[in-house]
Amino acid sequence: MQQKVLVVEDEAAIREMLAFNLGRAGYEVLSAATGTEARSSVADKYPDVVLMDWMLPDVSGLELTRQLKRDPETREIPIIMLTARVQEDDRVAGLEGGADDYITKPFSPRELLARIKVVLRRGAAYQDETITVGRLKLNSASHRVSVDGSEISLGPTEYRILHFFMHHPDRVYSRTQLLDRIWGANVYVEERTVDVHIRRLRKALTDSGYDKLVQTVRGAGYRFSPREA
Ligand code: CA
Repeated sequence: MQQKVLVVEDEAAIREMLAFNLGRAGYEVLSAATGTEARSSVADKYPDVVLMDWMLPDVSGLELTRQLKRDPETREIPIIMLTARVQEDDRVAGLEGGADDYITKPFSPRELLARIKVVLRRGAAYQDETITVGRLKLNSASHRVSVDGSEISLGPTEYRILHFFMHHPDRVYSRTQLLDRIWGANVYVEERTVDVHIRRLRKALTDSGYDKLVQTVRGAGYRFSPREA
């Protein structure tokens, strides 16, 4: 699956230059010219990394970074701040605001691509962990799922759905949101496909009784509810 980079930059020339270089490096590029556009792109497409310009017309990139890092839903997305500012104070403010890295304009595309790789790798290391809900355990390194130590066999899509749910409990996701977040924004899959995989996931969890954690929310989508565990 192609990794998504969101470029938040109000200067069209810079945005296009970045989009060109990122596209050529194999990334899917999303772009936003304002903080408002950036927020909706993050919510709809859930990028793998955000390149955040400091000076935006409606909100400062620093403030937007703070907001994204405060929200449990988005705080794991790495953010690289782009700025013309060179003072040490600004660098510190950017990192304290939650930015994962910082790059000063003008920068070479090569340098930027190298920085992106570093934050993505760090993110991958962060995901290398075990998450537990009741007796249900999922390990991201081995891709193993077990209940009371006995392994549950899941297909790759069911695994990804469960992984996503366990990391995003107690929130309702529409089928479209699940498609974007689990299958990827550029993949064309019918919404009914989500139902098929949810059914398979529930079936795999039935013996443990944990199928009831995967709840259908009528007219809205699905929710994973650890409280039922
Ligand atoms: Ca700007």
